Amino acid sequence: MKDTHKHQGLRNQLVKTIEEKGIRNKNVLKAIATVPRHLFMDSGFVDFAYQDKAFPIAAEQTISQPYTVAFQTELLEVKPNDSILEIGTGSGYQTAVLIEMGAKVYTIERQKELFKKTILFLPKIGYKSKKMLFGDGYKGLPENAPFDGIIVTAGAPFLPKALLSQLKIGGRLVIPIGDTVQTMTLYIRTSEKNFEKHELGTFRFVPMLKKRN
Ligand code: SAH
Repeated sequence: MKDTHKHQGLRNQLVKTIEEKGIRNKNVLKAIATVPRHLFMDSGFVDFAYQDKAFPIAAEQTISQPYTVAFQTELLEVKPNDSILEIGTGSGYQTAVLIEMGAKVYTIERQKELFKKTILFLPKIGYKSKKMLFGDGYKGLPENAPFDGIIVTAGAPFLPKALLSQLKIGGRLVIPIGDTVQTMTLYIRTSEKNFEKHELGTFRFVPMLKKRN
């Protein structure tokens, strides 16, 4: 499938919608306007790609709602060359948004089926991550730490301590915490031992699960 003028027009509409919902960061909006979301979705749902909604992908997972992707990305305050760890690669859409903003992205997925699909797909449409891993996101990625930012795109039942310890001083962790609904939570590492915590509204994510599958 291709990316056409029609798709670009739909993306511009989508950007307007999420801007109206409160997203202000120009680089985030630019990335949403650029990444061809329809290519990340199973063919049956392509017509819905530019609605501001989550949709099913393989292995009973979802591609996050564009507003949610934009909201989390805005909280990360991504700068070019930042090294960012993503937990929950899924379709790779969030990964592509981060790469589009100039980040060096490390991403972990626990579903074999999705991992195999996305590791082939992303480079095919021109998005090169630093590393894509099949593994357990609760552990983070100690060998590539510390990170400027860590983003968790599944609902975490609790805060995985390993992730906090893999942040640089000044680094930001964006994680939805909770069981059926999640509170979007931002941790900023202010020193070796200290973290600032901010809670930023409720969202619904598929659950962050233990172990690989
Ligand atoms: N960022 C994705 C969102 C996918 S939904 C996108 O833009 O499409 C969340 C993803 O987190 C799912 O693919 C799910 O399999 C994955 N996931 C759940 N628990 C995980 C864990 N412990 N480690 C890594 N990935 C996990």
